[in-house]
Amino acid sequence: MPIVPQINLSMLYAYCPLCDVEDPKRNSELARITKQEKVRCAFGHEISDSAIARYQAEGKLRLIKTVVPESIHPAAIKWSVWVLPEHKSKLEERFPHNLYTTVATALENLAEDSCLFIVGPKAAQLRAKGIKSADSLIALVEDYGRLESAVDDLQKELDKMKPLQALLGGLLKNQPSAP
Ligand SMILES: [Zn+2]
Repeated sequence: MPIVPQINLSMLYAYCPLCDVEDPKRNSELARITKQEKVRCAFGHEISDSAIARYQAEGKLRLIKTVVPESIHPAAIKWSVWVLPEHKSKLEERFPHNLYTTVATALENLAEDSCLFIVGPKAAQLRAKGIKSADSLIALVEDYGRLESAVDDLQKELDKMKPLQALLGGLLKNQPSAP
């Protein structure tokens, strides 16, 4: 069950567009003024809701991305594993918000033997052929299955024509040869 941070209704989750003009590095957050249709920043700017909507429509409102913290299974235990420092930093770079969940999922599937482990040059070969996920791999296998059954159908049609072929062969053989 993912843990989603509680939304603070008094915050607009956007930076003040007026502060952005004065100093783009100020990062002054907008907060709602209680019971009023406007918001305020820490630098005293007050902006109405309609003006905010206008700023947003014009692409002048910088929204604050909320980061959902990783949820750890309550029964999970901490386990130290050996890893090369360069691999650790690469993983941290690739999964900035879901590293523990990703590693735990990989470990879970390894433990349950419920994964296909395709690595190195073979994985590169698949990627080069446009197969980058389980979905694309399954689609390919299904396409292959469809192709096989199409070939089967074609073979059945050809088999039906065999008696005709035999008849034609016989007729040709019995034709009197030219004088
Ligand atoms: Zn401001």
